[in-house]
Amino acid sequence: MLKTSPEACVSMPWVQCRDGIFEVDEFDCASCFLVEGTERALLIDTGVGIGDLKWLVENRITDKPYDVVVTHNHGDHIGGAGWFDTIRIHPADADWKEGHAAPTVSFRREYAELIRNREGKDYAYDPQKDIRPWPKEPEILSVSDGQKFYLGGRTVTAYHCPGHTAGEIVLADDLTKTLLCGDACNCNWLLCADLAPTLRGCAEKALAGLERILNMAGNTFDIGSVFNFHHDFRPFGQPLAPNVLPDLVSCLKSVLDGTAKYESVPDPLSSDGKSRTIARYGSVMVSCMQGSIAEAGR
Ligand SMILES: [Zn+2]
Repeated sequence: MLKTSPEACVSMPWVQCRDGIFEVDEFDCASCFLVEGTERALLIDTGVGIGDLKWLVENRITDKPYDVVVTHNHGDHIGGAGWFDTIRIHPADADWKEGHAAPTVSFRREYAELIRNREGKDYAYDPQKDIRPWPKEPEILSVSDGQKFYLGGRTVTAYHCPGHTAGEIVLADDLTKTLLCGDACNCNWLLCADLAPTLRGCAEKALAGLERILNMAGNTFDIGSVFNFHHDFRPFGQPLAPNVLPDLVSCLKSVLDGTAKYESVPDPLSSDGKSRTIARYGSVMVSCMQGSIAEAGR
């Protein structure tokens, strides 16, 4: 019998987007995914940590035992980690509690407020009540390139894809040929400025990582079944357009070979109307977390 939600917790929308793959929408802030096999499940990312994702997973989505893995070390993906006993993260993102996007309560509340303002919506949660301090510190285990999660009737494989962070991973499900890619690929993509001594080196590293994943398309996953972990450039529960990953690779190539088209656009993650320089290619905009993407072309 399904239990009712504890009164303290707001309930989050969720949808089955592929056979046994569920997307949880954390009020437009971020998405988390759960893949369920016949024996086990795998929860991928923990969002900003609004409400009680653990309760939702265990009482509404699956009755299987599950592991928790996070795609990368940003506070909108690991913000709910403190409700789980153990999480897995790539060792290159082991500084997961450092930096501008560390999952502090203030970061989590500010990020949620930014999204609330951007979307102009009135969400069902209360930032003070529903974005709470963690009840505990989770145990941290690693996830490595090629690591497989055997779920029963399906296997999910993690691949290291540095670019958005040093330790970003993407995960491919062999049953549905779906790629669950965190922030490794999207239409408004951010390059990490700490991957190499120069921004050019960062862009080269990101291009190599993304080209490797793109080369797996058609075998490991279908190019029409790629899900990033924010649904602002795709409908909730539906994949990215099939040209997004190829466009992202082409965009980074254009930055490096000097043919990129640069524009200044309002920064969607700025609360004070700042603008940022982007390189645009097809469906994709690329910019840098610090500095200008145009510097990466030099
Ligand atoms: Zn991110």
